[in-house]
Amino acid sequence: MRTPLIAGNWKMHKTLPEARELVGAIRTGIEQLPDGRVDVVICPPYQLLFPMAKAIAGSRIMMGAQNAHFESQGAFTGEVSVPMLKDTGCTHVIIGHSERRQLFGEDNALLAKKVRAVVNAGLTAIYCVGETLEERERNETQQVVDRQIREVLAREIAPERLVIAYEPVWAIGTGRTATPSQAQEVHAFVRGKLQGIYDQRAADSVRILYGGSVKPGNAGELLAQPDIDGALVGGACLVAADFLAIIRAVFH
Ligand code: PEP
Repeated sequence: MRTPLIAGNWKMHKTLPEARELVGAIRTGIEQLPDGRVDVVICPPYQLLFPMAKAIAGSRIMMGAQNAHFESQGAFTGEVSVPMLKDTGCTHVIIGHSERRQLFGEDNALLAKKVRAVVNAGLTAIYCVGETLEERERNETQQVVDRQIREVLAREIAPERLVIAYEPVWAIGTGRTATPSQAQEVHAFVRGKLQGIYDQRAADSVRILYGGSVKPGNAGELLAQPDIDGALVGGACLVAADFLAIIRAVFH
């Protein structure tokens, strides 16, 4: 019912020649995938959006950005707006990645504006939630995720333009992965919260991705969980063979 989605967050990696090589290999690999449905999104840094749009043209790969400003234009030096991203061919925008929250001070109030800007422009927001290690150890995971959802999402945000990524901060780039049951527990909790905002049908239609050291070796067991509908992949998406192996895990 929910088409699995594998998204690669390139973060601040890849020059143009490196990106061309990576996307070329991903494209070739995807053409050889077994039959079956999977959505694939690459999220390169801003300077690569136009050339990567060209590189994926005619393939099933979609493109997302890693951030956006909530205003459509104005005196905001260094920022990029959602209409500008749309111009490049982006269909998705990651909002609220833990690096944006932790390193750039983005809070729920700001992220609420960003999610609305993305969805109102007709793009899909990949909205990230997740607890820190200290919060998990204090047993506050549900409380934190509840707040990240309650203070950002609302009924007026079209659920068909929304993807949630559960990314425990302690698992991002650390090599530590949530166990499939730890992740499933939070995913089911998130789906319950979506039901409270929308209704059961909408909650059942929103894809909830897991992110945090997803690798070829652990993707299969994570994706087998009933409420894990795909992955947001950091490190492993920079190596075509690894990203493709994670995509292939959808079919097992
Ligand atoms: C991420 O940054 O979204 C991420 C999940 O990174 P990694 O896969 O490297 O943990």
